[in-house]
Amino acid sequence: MLVEDDRAVGVRLSDGREFRADIVVSACDGRTTMLELLKGRYLNKTYERLYTRTIDEPGMLYPGYVSVFLGLGRPFPQGEPCTTYLLDEEEAASFAGMGHPSMNVQFRSAHYPELSPRDTSVVFVTYFSDTGVWRELTDGPEQHSRVHKGEEVHTLAVRRGPAYYAAKRQVQRAVTEFLDRRFPGLAESVVARDTGTPLTQVRYTGNHNGTIAGWLPFMDGAETLEKEVNRNGPVAPGLKDFYLSGTWSTIGGLIRAAAAGRHVTQFICRDDGVEFTADIDRTQPPPTQIVIPVGLPPAPDSTVPQPKEHE
Ligand SMILES: Cc1cc2nc3c(=O)[nH]c(=O)nc-3n(C[C@H](O)[C@H](O)[C@H](O)COP(=O)(O)OP(=O)(O)OC[C@H]3O[C@@H](n4cnc5c(N)ncnc54)[C@H](O)[C@@H]3O)c2cc1C
Repeated sequence: MLVEDDRAVGVRLSDGREFRADIVVSACDGRTTMLELLKGRYLNKTYERLYTRTIDEPGMLYPGYVSVFLGLGRPFPQGEPCTTYLLDEEEAASFAGMGHPSMNVQFRSAHYPELSPRDTSVVFVTYFSDTGVWRELTDGPEQHSRVHKGEEVHTLAVRRGPAYYAAKRQVQRAVTEFLDRRFPGLAESVVARDTGTPLTQVRYTGNHNGTIAGWLPFMDGAETLEKEVNRNGPVAPGLKDFYLSGTWSTIGGLIRAAAAGRHVTQFICRDDGVEFTADIDRTQPPPTQIVIPVGLPPAPDSTVPQPKEHE
């Protein structure tokens, strides 16, 4: 981050190129922004506490995820669009690093058939996972920058050692067997698989400890951050022409992260004395997902009213 006289004036990339700008918005990992990119020079008491202590207290951040994608070589209409399974201890033990004995399974083709070729399906399985377990299994770097086709890239695959890959394969096997018990024939339909761990999240996002979405709602860290942003805006105290955006400038999750971009623009407009306006880009095609109405669960007896089709 290029700073002159307490004013953000641009960025310098790792290959040395510099880009000057009137305004700089940081939308990456909050701790990296405050402690590394800004070298800890613009911390008030709140940010100092958040990023040097609170962040490493248990339960303050969303954990990491293990995510398994399975490509099935045939349609799977019996697969449910989204179900969370609560597991018993024995089942949970087969999933490396499982933080909470539960697993979310989404047959995503039900909502997004365009995700895979016709007559195939995609299953997305996730569970919250302790990053430390994966760190113990790996003997490679968490991120490794390389020049690829003349460009410096920071998210290429890294070598993590045999124990890590063995654990990933075990997770894939356990997920496939778990699903095959519920949806017989699924295992033999698998034609593609891909597994990510909390360290994959570190590699791609640089997020502290591989958290999927930063501050966890209702905990001290999230509440403190929210009060700070409400009080002073998404800024680094004392630094002009600089704003914070993305998931770390709010309380975690995709929708809030997306909305944070709009909020920052509102602050920039206010600081520039320009009226903020927003509109929807109607030149783009509308979303294509299939909306499946939520119904009541099957009634144990017929006295429970069931939703009619049009509801
Ligand atoms: C597997 C998974 C499943 C999820 N599921 C859900 C869900 O179901 N619902 C939900 O609400 N949320 C979900 N999330 C969380 C959600 O995806 C994130 O909260 C959201 O994408 C964050 O967006 P962002 O723009 O703030 O950050 P990111 O999308 O992480 O973007 C940050 C960018 O900054 C770049 N960067 C990092 N460090 C630097 C640096 N030093 N210099 C330059 N660039 C840098 C990164 O490469 C990245 O491109 C999920 C996350 C994961 C990983």
